[in-house]
Amino acid sequence: MADSEGMAWPGFRRVIQMVGRAVILRCPNCGGRPVLRDWFHLRERCPICGIALERGEENDYYIGGMLLNITLCFVIFAVGFWGVLIVTYPRVPWDALQYGLVAAMIILPILLYPISRVVWLAVDMAVRPRSEKDKDG
Ligand SMILES: [Zn+2]
Repeated sequence: MADSEGMAWPGFRRVIQMVGRAVILRCPNCGGRPVLRDWFHLRERCPICGIALERGEENDYYIGGMLLNITLCFVIFAVGFWGVLIVTYPRVPWDALQYGLVAAMIILPILLYPISRVVWLAVDMAVRPRSEKDKDG
Protein backbone atom coordinates (compact mmCIF):
# COMPACT_ATOMS: atom_id res chain seq x y z
CA MET A 1 0.00 0.00 0.00
CA ALA A 2 1.31 3.46 -0.82
CA ASP A 3 0.35 6.76 0.74
CA SER A 4 -0.12 10.06 -1.02
CA GLU A 5 3.64 10.68 -1.26
CA GLY A 6 4.23 7.31 -2.92
CA MET A 7 5.96 5.78 0.11
CA ALA A 8 5.37 2.07 0.59
CA TRP A 9 4.16 0.74 3.93
CA PRO A 10 6.09 -2.37 4.98
CA GLY A 11 4.26 -5.66 5.42
CA PHE A 12 4.14 -7.61 8.69
CA ARG A 13 7.06 -9.82 7.67
CA ARG A 14 9.19 -6.78 6.86
CA VAL A 15 8.31 -5.20 10.23
CA ILE A 16 9.37 -8.38 12.05
CA GLN A 17 12.63 -8.36 10.04
CA MET A 18 13.26 -4.71 10.91
CA VAL A 19 12.63 -5.25 14.63
CA GLY A 20 14.79 -8.40 14.58
CA ARG A 21 17.68 -6.45 13.05
CA ALA A 22 17.18 -3.69 15.61
CA VAL A 23 17.33 -6.13 18.55
CA ILE A 24 20.85 -7.14 17.45
CA LEU A 25 21.81 -3.47 16.98
CA ARG A 26 21.83 -3.47 13.20
CA CYS A 27 20.24 -1.05 10.79
CA PRO A 28 16.50 -1.86 10.61
CA ASN A 29 16.51 -1.03 6.91
CA CYS A 30 19.49 -3.02 5.57
CA GLY A 31 20.96 -4.98 8.51
CA GLY A 32 24.23 -3.04 8.28
CA ARG A 33 26.28 -1.91 11.21
CA PRO A 34 27.46 -0.12 13.27
CA VAL A 35 24.41 2.02 13.94
CA LEU A 36 25.68 3.35 17.28
CA ARG A 37 28.08 6.28 17.60
CA ASP A 38 28.48 5.37 21.28
CA TRP A 39 26.35 3.50 23.81
CA PHE A 40 23.87 6.38 24.15
CA HIS A 41 23.84 7.87 20.64
CA LEU A 42 22.90 6.64 17.19
CA ARG A 43 24.93 7.55 14.12
CA GLU A 44 23.31 10.19 11.98
CA ARG A 45 23.04 7.79 9.01
CA CYS A 46 23.51 4.08 8.39
CA PRO A 47 27.06 3.52 7.07
CA ILE A 48 25.78 0.92 4.58
CA CYS A 49 22.47 2.16 3.14
CA GLY A 50 22.70 5.81 4.21
CA ILE A 51 19.18 6.00 5.68
CA ALA A 52 18.76 8.63 8.40
CA LEU A 53 18.95 7.01 11.84
CA GLU A 54 18.31 10.27 13.69
CA ARG A 55 14.75 11.08 12.75
CA GLY A 56 13.75 14.25 14.54
CA GLU A 57 15.76 14.20 17.77
CA GLU A 58 14.90 17.86 18.27
CA ASN A 59 11.25 16.90 18.77
CA ASP A 60 11.74 14.67 21.81
CA TYR A 61 12.11 11.65 19.56
CA TYR A 62 14.10 9.84 22.25
CA ILE A 63 11.02 9.64 24.51
CA GLY A 64 9.70 6.69 22.46
CA GLY A 65 12.95 4.81 23.05
CA MET A 66 12.81 5.64 26.74
CA LEU A 67 9.22 4.39 26.96
CA LEU A 68 10.25 1.14 25.29
CA ASN A 69 13.24 0.87 27.65
CA ILE A 70 11.07 1.34 30.76
CA THR A 71 8.48 -1.14 29.48
CA LEU A 72 11.15 -3.74 28.70
CA CYS A 73 12.74 -3.34 32.14
CA PHE A 74 9.35 -3.60 33.85
CA VAL A 75 8.56 -6.83 31.96
CA ILE A 76 11.97 -8.29 32.92
CA PHE A 77 11.39 -7.22 36.54
CA ALA A 78 7.96 -8.85 36.64
CA VAL A 79 9.13 -12.07 34.95
CA GLY A 80 12.20 -12.23 37.23
CA PHE A 81 10.21 -11.61 40.39
CA TRP A 82 7.41 -14.06 39.62
CA GLY A 83 9.80 -16.61 38.13
CA VAL A 84 11.98 -16.74 41.26
CA LEU A 85 8.89 -16.69 43.49
CA ILE A 86 7.22 -19.61 41.69
CA VAL A 87 10.39 -21.71 41.31
CA THR A 88 11.58 -21.31 44.92
CA TYR A 89 8.24 -21.23 46.79
CA PRO A 90 7.84 -21.70 49.77
CA ARG A 91 11.53 -20.95 50.51
CA VAL A 92 11.74 -17.70 48.64
CA PRO A 93 15.16 -16.00 48.96
CA TRP A 94 13.66 -12.61 49.78
CA ASP A 95 16.97 -10.86 50.44
CA ALA A 96 18.56 -12.11 47.21
CA LEU A 97 15.39 -11.26 45.31
CA GLN A 98 15.26 -7.76 46.78
CA TYR A 99 18.89 -6.86 46.16
CA GLY A 100 19.10 -8.68 42.85
CA LEU A 101 16.07 -6.94 41.42
CA VAL A 102 17.20 -3.53 42.66
CA ALA A 103 20.59 -4.11 41.02
CA ALA A 104 18.88 -5.30 37.85
CA MET A 105 16.67 -2.20 37.76
CA ILE A 106 19.78 -0.01 37.93
CA ILE A 107 21.82 -1.94 35.35
CA LEU A 108 19.18 -3.11 32.85
CA PRO A 109 17.97 0.33 31.68
CA ILE A 110 21.58 1.23 30.82
CA LEU A 111 22.30 -2.11 29.13
CA LEU A 112 19.06 -2.10 27.15
CA TYR A 113 19.11 1.58 26.18
CA PRO A 114 20.70 1.17 22.74
CA ILE A 115 18.45 -1.79 21.91
CA SER A 116 15.41 0.24 22.94
CA ARG A 117 16.52 3.14 20.75
CA VAL A 118 17.14 1.00 17.66
CA VAL A 119 13.91 -1.01 18.14
CA TRP A 120 12.02 2.27 18.50
CA LEU A 121 13.70 3.42 15.29
CA ALA A 122 12.56 0.21 13.55
CA VAL A 123 8.97 0.72 14.74
CA ASP A 124 9.14 4.35 13.63
CA MET A 125 10.47 3.33 10.22
CA ALA A 126 7.58 0.85 9.94
CA VAL A 127 4.80 3.30 10.80
CA ARG A 128 6.50 6.35 9.25
CA PRO A 129 8.23 5.05 6.11
CA ARG A 130 11.13 6.79 4.39
CA SER A 131 10.56 10.32 3.30
CA GLU A 132 12.70 12.39 0.96
CA LYS A 133 14.87 13.73 3.81
CA ASP A 134 15.59 10.17 5.05
CA LYS A 135 16.96 8.98 1.72
CA ASP A 136 20.59 8.54 0.89
CA GLY A 137 22.48 11.70 1.35
ZN1 LIG B 1 21.20 0.56 6.66
